[in-house]
Formats: sequence, C-alpha cells, structure tokens
Amino acid sequence: MNLPAKHSVKGNTIFTVMSALAHEHNAINLSQGFPDFPIDSKLGELLLEASQKGFNQYAPMAGLPMLREAIVNDFKKRYNVDVDADTEVTVTPGATYGIYTAFTSILQKGDEVIVLEPAYDSYIPNIETNGAVVVPVSLTTPTYHVDWNKVKDAITDKTRAIIVNTPHNPTGAIWTKEDWDSLAEVIRGTDIIVLSDEVYEQIVFDDKQHYTVLQHEELRQKSFAIFSFGKVYHNTGWKMGFVIAPQALTNAFRSIHQFLVFSVNTPAQYALSQYLSQPSLPSVSGMMQQKRDHFLKLMEGTPFTIHTPAGGSYFQTVGYEQINDMPDMEFAQWLTKEYGVATIPISAFYSNRQDDKTIRFCFAKKEETLERAVEKLLRLS
Ligand code: PMP
Ligand code: GLN
Repeated sequence: MNLPAKHSVKGNTIFTVMSALAHEHNAINLSQGFPDFPIDSKLGELLLEASQKGFNQYAPMAGLPMLREAIVNDFKKRYNVDVDADTEVTVTPGATYGIYTAFTSILQKGDEVIVLEPAYDSYIPNIETNGAVVVPVSLTTPTYHVDWNKVKDAITDKTRAIIVNTPHNPTGAIWTKEDWDSLAEVIRGTDIIVLSDEVYEQIVFDDKQHYTVLQHEELRQKSFAIFSFGKVYHNTGWKMGFVIAPQALTNAFRSIHQFLVFSVNTPAQYALSQYLSQPSLPSVSGMMQQKRDHFLKLMEGTPFTIHTPAGGSYFQTVGYEQINDMPDMEFAQWLTKEYGVATIPISAFYSNRQDDKTIRFCFAKKEETLERAVEKLLRLS
C-alpha cells in the first residue's frame, strides 16, 4: 500500500524500543519514564467509588466541572494565579494529546515552529503531521540553558509557535523567571504562540520553585500551558492531563478536541477531582528528591560521569566516556543486554540524532530497584 509519510520519524519511539529490549533481556528498566511504585491507595479507592456512584457515561467536552474547579483552586493555592474553570481549562487524555491538539489548533501548512533540543520525542512528529516545519535550536551543553540569541536568529515571519519544557525532559534543567522574561522579550511584537510543557511542575528539587508560564502576565496571554496528572500522582497509565490557555486559544483547542476525543474518561476525572480537593497533598518533590539523591550517591561508585544533578523532573543524564566510545544508541542497547540495565540514549531527543555520548536514567523507582540496578552497573568499574 502506498501510504503518505505524515512525519519524519521512522519506526517505533525510543520508549517502546528500550522498554521492549528491557523486557526481552529481563533488564531493570530505567529507560521509559514511569514509576514502579504503587499509587496512593486513596486514589485507587476513588476510582472504584466513581464507577460505583455512576460516573460511567460521557463527561462534558471540556471536562467535569468539579475537576476543572479543583484544578483552578489548586493553581490559586500553589501559584496564586487566577484561572477561569469554564473558559480556560480543558481536561485531556494526557499531556501528549494536549500538545498535539494545541499544535493542531494553531498550525497551518508551511508554518515554522521552534523546538529547543534535546526535546521530548513527540514534539517533532506532532508539528510535521500538521504540515508545519520544525526549526531546531540546540540548548547549550552541558548546562542545557537557552541561548536566546540563537532563538532570536531562528525567528522568521513564518514562525507560528515555540515549544518549551521546564522542568526539562531529558536533562532535568529548570527555567528561572529570567528565562521567561527573555522569551517574552524575544517574541514581543510577533504572533508567536508558546506551548509550555510543564508536566514535571511538581518535581523540583533543592528548594527551588517551579515558575509557570501562567505566572507571567505577558506570556500567559499567548500560551498553552500543558500538564499531566500521570507525573504528579504516579499513575502514567491513566493518561490524564489538562491544558490551560486564554479563552481564544482554549476555543481553538476545543474546536479540535471535540472532534478528536470529545471527552475524557469520566471515572478518572471524578477520582482526580476528589483527590485534588483534599486539604493537603503529599509533596512529590520531596519524595523524588530523596530518590534522586539516593541514586546519585549510589552512582558515585560507577565509572559514569554524572552531569549536573537534575534540578527537576525524574531524569538524570550521565556520560559514559570512561567506559567506551560507542554511539549512544549502541551503548544503551549494549548496557541493556550485557549489564541488565535499560536507559535512554539522548540522541533520540535530537532531530539530527546528535550524539553527545550521553544517556538518561529514570530514578522514579523504588529504592530497591535503584539499588539492584546500580549493583549491576558496578560491574563496569
Ligand atoms: N511532555 C514531557 C516532557 C514528558 O516527559 C511526557 C512524558 N510522558 C509527556 C509530555 C507526556 O505526558 P502524558 O503521559 O500525560 O501524555
Ligand atoms: N515521558 C516518558 C519519558 O520520557 C515516556 C512517555 C512515553 O513512553 N511516550 O520517558
């Protein structure tokens, strides 16, 4: 059959490839980003309660009002921002969907979109599927900060959007208020729309604060802010998220959303609304920081070069130049097969497959899993 290529990525995503390889070789899977510990039992009970209480039919297109209200109250409490539950919040089946739908609602054929690389792997195919053109701008290694002059140089009269991500996957870098100010300055006077991927907003370390685009009055008027419950409540398989955007952008988003999925899993929306409305919720940053610190300490005994400790997210990048000089994809496969630990090669996050000889570990795992993995890696010493 002669089917059109909708985007430039061939084959399966790196997450499918590495998780399958881990499974095949019975390796410890520190590749794909998902926790291996259980969710809060209260959240599970609420899912059951939802179904028993009859929350089993289509939810309203934008999301259950009680969930949108709970989100708005939570953002007021944590970020002191005012968001309108009716006109600015849309519940989505995960953040990946939120990003795709935001792009689809604003892009036309031939538009350009700036992507800061390394970047989460769905951005580029999402842009290309919409007939738009990716303009990659590399982050500055090894700190992975943005070179704003490079961003300025990448802007043309065709630039329609820029996608940014903080805390950052795969590097764990986080943006400061100054980064947001620089972005505001660079796109001031243009029609560029910002997609702000903030799925790791509640995983920030060392007493730093996440700064959301919603706190930036100027940028907020032209941004989609994209969130994932999966990353916050350790339930990535629920595939639940939400998008906050000003009314005009939300209208454009919903005009696509209503014909893509129409509405999102009702029992999960009920459970999340009840869970989120509790007076106090556990600190995700605190528990993930313990995992990061434990992992970094364990890794000191291995020949890997630990890059700047992750400021947020649940990923840590490391170099392996003291072990061998294989390309990173080959190295990750070799490590899985020969040493029983699966990771992600960072080249998968670059459109040109740039090889920085760097791999990414996911440390959102039980202590025991991290210990078993590093025990295997110690054999490399
Ligand atoms: N953006 C980034 C940066 C991610 O790491 C992920 C991970 N899954 C997503 C978006 C997608 O989130 P979801 O699982 O809610 O689709
Ligand atoms: N966000 C997760 C990661 O970066 C995986 C998501 C996926 O499998 N598509 O590892």
